Amino acid sequence: MNRSALTRLMPEGPVGTWLAGFRIDSSSQTPLYLQIASEIEHRIGHGRIAIGERLPPQRALAELVGVSRNTAVQAYRELERRGWVRSRVGRGTFAALPLDRAVPNPSWQPQFSASISRVTRPFMGEVNTEQAGRLSLASGKVAADPSIIGTFRQMFDLVLEREGARAFEPGPPQGIPALRAALAAHLHAGGADVRPQEILITAGARQALSILASILVDPGDTVVTEGPTYRGAIQAFQGVGARIICVPTDGDGLDLEALESVLAYTRPKLIYVIPTFQNPSSVSLSLERRHLLIEAAARRAVPIVEDDPYWELRYEGARLPRLKALDTWGGVIHVGTFSKLVFPGVRVGWIAGPPGVIRQAAVAKAGGGLHVSSLPQWAMARLLEENLLEPHLRRACQRLRSKRDLLLASLARHARGRLMARRPEGGLFVWARLPAPVQAADLLKSTSAKGVDFVAGPAFWPSGGDPYAMRLCFAGLDEPQLEEAAAIVGRSLASALTGVEPGEERHPERAPAGYMECGRRRGRAVPGRRA
Ligand code: PMP
Repeated sequence: MNRSALTRLMPEGPVGTWLAGFRIDSSSQTPLYLQIASEIEHRIGHGRIAIGERLPPQRALAELVGVSRNTAVQAYRELERRGWVRSRVGRGTFAALPLDRAVPNPSWQPQFSASISRVTRPFMGEVNTEQAGRLSLASGKVAADPSIIGTFRQMFDLVLEREGARAFEPGPPQGIPALRAALAAHLHAGGADVRPQEILITAGARQALSILASILVDPGDTVVTEGPTYRGAIQAFQGVGARIICVPTDGDGLDLEALESVLAYTRPKLIYVIPTFQNPSSVSLSLERRHLLIEAAARRAVPIVEDDPYWELRYEGARLPRLKALDTWGGVIHVGTFSKLVFPGVRVGWIAGPPGVIRQAAVAKAGGGLHVSSLPQWAMARLLEENLLEPHLRRACQRLRSKRDLLLASLARHARGRLMARRPEGGLFVWARLPAPVQAADLLKSTSAKGVDFVAGPAFWPSGGDPYAMRLCFAGLDEPQLEEAAAIVGRSLASALTGVEPGEERHPERAPAGYMECGRRRGRAVPGRRA
């Protein structure tokens, strides 16, 4: 073909498709290799050649375009220099997008499903609080102690020795039978009569809540929760389109009178409660109210989801029975987890409930990923069988008790009576209250700038709640860190109150029951009724 012709039309075909209309002009001042490079660049830029598509080998390109092989080689070099192709030795040349052309942040927003917009909380906030070097009173994670690391090493050895290859098999979606049996015995020892077939193993309590939400709640259904409540539960229920009604709590837990009035005008799909050492308030539902709650729910046949991660973490006072142990009508679905008992990354939790619920939950779980990793399940089964959980919990409770005491004492020292806080009998959190006009979100901005994070109270309601409340977790830091974090909270509070006359510094008119003054200057704050 006469290459001096202005136009060269390439054949149709697998490669020829994008070569169609390929124009090179040998009479032009522009070297051939640059013309070829520009033609190919144009096609990649306009999507006629897909990013990642393999281009013809040099020799084939030379033949197709009717140039020397050397010209084709130069064209590819030029394209590589501009970033439009990448060569991989032995594999060929592939279309690419130059870095400066890459769309920096494609907008994903239009791609997301409608269901994610239902979830209102900025949960990502918590992710930022876990950066190295920060003092996090925000995260509810219990630091793993060295002794549990040693125990787990032994349990894994034992499992591998006894189970061999079986430990590497995925178990049934309901969870491995050995763990369900050991867990049933553990719950039984705690007073709840649960059989292994009434247990489903999950990847932590959070997954258990999502599974329950998916099988029990339809969009538009009502779910009753305590207010404040666990943010993960808000997320799980909002995620399936539930309308959440928060019933207020006091020092004895859920306000049963308020619950009764809610039940009088609406029929919720379920009542979600954290009866023992509630997250975030750390209060426990009194024994009398436990009975009343079960009766109220039984009268209307409304299931109760009892979320119970902290029951074992009691530092003082007498144990209260789980709702599951008091269940008179089979309406209590119990959710538990080892996250707070051994270490947060273990990701073994459970649902214990009526067989019909467990069967349906197993189907939902199978649909959403089938198995929880087998090895941690085996290790937890052996830990329970070898009776090693109890001694570990005794040590863990001692450690957590002294952390709680240290945080409360440090807050009292540094906040000088300006903070009211509950003294929790167990669990992981101090739920504290600031004097007006200092709101928790503003204090958080100031402590955060100094490296200390906590969670501001409104996050624990579906659409904002007490702006003066804050949750401080004492489980993740060691003693000197707790002292330092409390000092920063105290200093930030003092500076937020600079200029506020002592008379203007107000605790709420009626402090929620269960609070006590956390500090020396008694009388300045208005202490509530003590729990
Ligand atoms: N429920 C409550 C009340 C919690 O506080 C938490 C953890 N913060 C969970 C469930 C989630 O537990 P897990 O880590 O086992 O998913």
